[in-house]
Amino acid sequence: MDEDALPDTVPPGPGHDGAAAVSIGVTGLQAIIDALRGHGRTVIGPTVRGGAIVLAEISGVDELPGGWGDDQDAAHYRLRERDDGAVFGFAATAQSWKSVLFPSRELLWSGERSGNGFTTSPPAGDMPRYALLGVRSCDLHAIGIQDRVLLGRAATDPAYAARRDGAFIIAVACGNPGGTCFCVSMGTGPRPGAGFDLSLTELLDERGHRFVVLPGSARGRELLAALPSAAATAGDLAAADDVIAASAARMGRVLDTEGIRELLYDNAEHPRWDDVASRCLACTNCTLVCPTCFCTSVEDVSDLAGEHAERHRIWDSCFNSDFSHSSGGSVRASTRSRYRQWMTHKLASWIDQFGTSGCVGCGRCITWCPAAIDITQEAAALRAPLPARRASAPDGPPSSAAGGSPAANPGKEESP
Ligand code: SF4
Ligand code: SF4
Repeated sequence: MDEDALPDTVPPGPGHDGAAAVSIGVTGLQAIIDALRGHGRTVIGPTVRGGAIVLAEISGVDELPGGWGDDQDAAHYRLRERDDGAVFGFAATAQSWKSVLFPSRELLWSGERSGNGFTTSPPAGDMPRYALLGVRSCDLHAIGIQDRVLLGRAATDPAYAARRDGAFIIAVACGNPGGTCFCVSMGTGPRPGAGFDLSLTELLDERGHRFVVLPGSARGRELLAALPSAAATAGDLAAADDVIAASAARMGRVLDTEGIRELLYDNAEHPRWDDVASRCLACTNCTLVCPTCFCTSVEDVSDLAGEHAERHRIWDSCFNSDFSHSSGGSVRASTRSRYRQWMTHKLASWIDQFGTSGCVGCGRCITWCPAAIDITQEAAALRAPLPARRASAPDGPPSSAAGGSPAANPGKEESP
């Protein structure tokens, strides 16, 4: 199979209705991994490490989290042993696929002193050719959003493009949504709809442990055709639909998106921002785990002799006070203004900027927030009627007791 000659991941066409679906067992999944590795791809998949399900290079099915699930809630993540051998029986992994395609630290160039000047070189070596195994529908949408941000504008990101170009994507229909998931509210899951090469639905019943596999691209079809498989039966297709329907009915959270953009824009001075700022630690966790956040900074390092220097791109966060630093100080000096900026960008101004919400409902920001701050609760609070005392009072300036004082930066307008 000349896999490289085939086009990149394409959305499935209208005939994507199960007619091309096959059924494979655990050995068939291993054969897919072997074939991808045989074509020189680095296969990244979920695995258990350090008490969490994380993403790492794998070479076999036995490295997947077989028999492990997870419990997730606000500020809560625990592995849980399952009573079956499901290998995808968990919710969102601790890291998103952003950590693979857009890593937290990236060498931009290195430099060596030469005489009175210096010479610079780009990073050495080729980018890995990835196969991403086990991408949930919410995360597929997040990759699509990062594609729009990093590839779909006037300036594209060459390192992201190099990783993303040709990455082979194997999606997994989510059968075990977590307590913080709300992809149904955001219209991003749980059924993978587009943007994959293959899509798996894991079945475990009296007929055994197997996967219904749908191709989503020409190279996905070609890979499947080269492996032993059997056409999926009507019973398997119905069972796969049942897994997805049951998952959609078990979302841990709900976010009412009706008029959400206007809700955020109309409530820039809502007292809830003071409330959330009194709890928020400005730790940046929510932005680092979010699969769509893309802000970065640059960091220069040199050796003590001054002979060698490197410039790295590193993830940044709008929760850092330096993030909005301009002449005269930080534009968003308070935690109140930083949380408001983050949530307003995710749910409102992202729509103006990129045409979609910046949130895919993966729930990671809720699970990994040490203060248990929940974006679905914060949005609901903005909708709730204000208590009479608040409603009748004119909006004053933000409270200086909550998360830092705007007065620390006089003369600066704290825009959302
Ligand atoms: S909302 Fe939570 S995770 Fe985000 S910065 Fe505040 S405390 Fe940290
Ligand atoms: S804002 Fe939270 S729930 Fe939405 S995509 Fe980011 S991490 Fe996931």
